[in-house]
Amino acid sequence: MIKSVTGTKDILPSNIPRWKYLEKIVEQVFSDFNYKEIRTPVFEETALFARSIGEETDIVGKEMYTFNDKSDTSLTLKPEMTAAVVRAYVEHSLGTQQSLVKLFYISPMFRQERPQAGRFRQFHQFGAEAIGSPSPLLDVEMIQISYEILKSLGLKDLSVKINSLGTPETRERYKKLLKKFLKDKKNKLSEDSRRRFDTNVLRIFDSKVESDQKILNDAPKLIDNLDEESKNDFEIVKEQLNKSNIPFEMDPSLVRGLDYYTKLTFEIISGSVGSQNALCGGGRYDLLIENLGGKPTPATGFAAGIERILLACENESSFSINESEIDIYIVRIDKELEAFVIDLALKLRTRNIKVDFDYLQRSVKAQMREANKSKARFAIFMGGEEYQQGKLNLKNMQNGKEVLIPLNSHEEIINQIKV
Ligand code: AMP
Repeated sequence: MIKSVTGTKDILPSNIPRWKYLEKIVEQVFSDFNYKEIRTPVFEETALFARSIGEETDIVGKEMYTFNDKSDTSLTLKPEMTAAVVRAYVEHSLGTQQSLVKLFYISPMFRQERPQAGRFRQFHQFGAEAIGSPSPLLDVEMIQISYEILKSLGLKDLSVKINSLGTPETRERYKKLLKKFLKDKKNKLSEDSRRRFDTNVLRIFDSKVESDQKILNDAPKLIDNLDEESKNDFEIVKEQLNKSNIPFEMDPSLVRGLDYYTKLTFEIISGSVGSQNALCGGGRYDLLIENLGGKPTPATGFAAGIERILLACENESSFSINESEIDIYIVRIDKELEAFVIDLALKLRTRNIKVDFDYLQRSVKAQMREANKSKARFAIFMGGEEYQQGKLNLKNMQNGKEVLIPLNSHEEIINQIKV
């Protein structure tokens, strides 16, 4: 038997209501903050991701699903959305119609990571990109939106971590400082970190190796070496978060996996999902639009992992969904009434009444079992003596009450089942 590919998952009908519930909240909150939805293709030219995310990142270095199509163009299934949204922003000159463009998305992503709880090879993210303003208030908005969505889902065990990476100049200065500090400790670093020392020293902070972490504990911190502008922006972010009643902690090691971040970075961590505990992450990326061929344009954004959030919701029992029910199950007593049943069902269905009936020629008893199983609010009994008198029997399944209704009067059925 052919099975689903490692690291991918079917979302089965029993799980769909939870996804829909989350998506509804996501769409509602984005609408409240006046964000417009964008959908981009599942694959892009490989160069887009290599150039924007950075060659030395895990995503580009190890995790991308890259293949050549029949015309030998290198394509990649999108591992994240920012590069794709910025590509669309530049390609369609979205910035000429509006100076600040606020976009959101819900989309599958693809990374060839080692699968484990909360980490998949196809997973889903929702997120936002706000392109066109350097204001730290927009960075605050990113945290407000993601926090609001997580809260609306009923999550409690959350912590917000923030850091600032400063301007590109600050980063360059800081990289030199860090290199100086690490120079005589280089031999003690892990192999990955030794390589990163030469290619992109900041990335060493992403190392999960304990001995690396120990060395980094004493390293100079970027946050202590910020330029005035980044420092001021960071203060504004902190002040506004306090005003918004969003508790946060500073995390100087939060450099995030991607190359294009500047100034604010943040993550929201859940205490209820195990080791893969980042529910969402984001930050400012003032250089990316220029890097991808647009005019220099400041921007900020975030992405959140839906599977991980739903796992946190499940572990915290943060919301429950009433099992979907149907309005009416039609029980056919006489076999020859099949055509009549399908006709009545259609009349009701086209009035947005959720109706089902038996397609398997089952006995009346089996049909009754099916009516109960599908949690029907009402059952219609069609046939027998009542049918001879030109009537059908509508039974309220909750209180057992029955009423007789003339056969062709579906209006009366609709009236009767109104809540
Ligand atoms: P990133 O784009 O790496 O900052 O990821 C943003 C969010 O997406 C993370 O906080 C996770 O919730 C989620 N995420 C990232 N990678 C995966 C993955 N392989 N499987 C499931 N969720 C993921």
